[in-house]
Amino acid sequence: MSHVLHRSLTQSYPTAVGGDGVYLIDADGKHYLDACGGAAVSCLGHSDTDVIAAVKQQIASLAYAHSSFFTTEPMEALADLLTEQAPGKLDYVYFVSGGSEAVEAALKLARQYFVEKGEPERRHVIARRQSYHGNTLGALAAGGNAWRRQQFQPLLIEVSHVSPCYAYRDQRMDETPEAYGTRLVNELETEIQRLGPEQVMAFIAEPVVGATLGAVPAVPGYFKGIRELCDRYGILLICDEVMCGMGRTGAMFASEQEGIEPDLLCIAKGLGAGYQPIGATLVSKTIVDTIKNGSGFFQHGHTYIGHATACAAALAVQKTIAERGLLARVNTLGTSLQQALEERFQSHPHVGDIRGRGLFRGIELVLDKKTREPFDPALKLHAKVKAAAMNAGLMCYPMGGTLDGRRGDHILLAPPFIMEEQHVHELVDKLELAL
Ligand code: PMP
Repeated sequence: MSHVLHRSLTQSYPTAVGGDGVYLIDADGKHYLDACGGAAVSCLGHSDTDVIAAVKQQIASLAYAHSSFFTTEPMEALADLLTEQAPGKLDYVYFVSGGSEAVEAALKLARQYFVEKGEPERRHVIARRQSYHGNTLGALAAGGNAWRRQQFQPLLIEVSHVSPCYAYRDQRMDETPEAYGTRLVNELETEIQRLGPEQVMAFIAEPVVGATLGAVPAVPGYFKGIRELCDRYGILLICDEVMCGMGRTGAMFASEQEGIEPDLLCIAKGLGAGYQPIGATLVSKTIVDTIKNGSGFFQHGHTYIGHATACAAALAVQKTIAERGLLARVNTLGTSLQQALEERFQSHPHVGDIRGRGLFRGIELVLDKKTREPFDPALKLHAKVKAAAMNAGLMCYPMGGTLDGRRGDHILLAPPFIMEEQHVHELVDKLELAL
């Protein structure tokens, strides 16, 4: 009997003992093609020798120095690299250990910014329905899945939710993508007016929605409209790129592809590619200057901020991606993957939509292709797909439809950037077996 409190108290898991490139290996020697990087984490695959060497070197010289006493070379170098690549005036990096912590830090930075700016009444957050921003209490409050939130009510911060940008389900037949985007921006404006703009602190959204919808990019112009609206009402824009950031969609940041500059940008997962737990919040100069000229101290902190080994791992991961030109591969392989998925599954009676960007792809499963009627969530189709895929030696990331907001079950694919064309075919073959 396992004494580990696994999330599922009824399921047992195979024991992972090794990794080799795009494969994970269990204790029986079975190989699993890692087509989701766990949860869009392992962008460099497994057992990358350069990253391992960098981690070994760092841990041998200095594993940890508390950030209230020291800065470290890998932390400074990683912050330089990230701010060089980040859009706009995101000149500062606050390091944390994962995605939820990055969102918590963004929310608290936003709040402290307004308090120190003399607008303490701005504390309301607007997020989108069917969104996920993490599982700690603040990040959970921001998320828009009723079933995740309901048993933890009352939650810690005031949040209201507007519609996500989900063209497959919500764009009307007589509507252009641009008109659909404008309708959603107008919906947000109505919500801001309802709350009173002077009460609203931030709007948070994923530029390409990952886990909850399955690799759904916004329609063109939507995020530009959101940025303009936030500017008009003095509201901070937080982009949650925990899943879609760090090259996953073919650019270092998905907000770059939308042509916008957020005020706060959350990253994790692909940052350290699973070699070490690490996340970060990129922060605009305006926010930092306000706090610098006010209290001079960010009222937030964790023991493992800027952990030296974690920063060294992330630095090695990001240098490796740049040196091997992997972003270009994300784009070419992403196109191959989309084509292969369409060729194989377009005519499948239960595949409603195949979408995404770069190596971030989603397949939506529906009961009825014509009406787009989803399967009954009670069937737990996603769990069955996951189990069948694992049997077939494939890791993919299926998620279920929910009762709040109509949406189908979907399968998220986020394979390592180092995959080859042959793995695209292996992925599609194994997925066909599972489906
Ligand atoms: N935001 C998004 C968009 C995510 O996908 C996730 C994780 N799935 C998180 C936040 C939370 O990250 P973590 O699990 O590392 O806390």
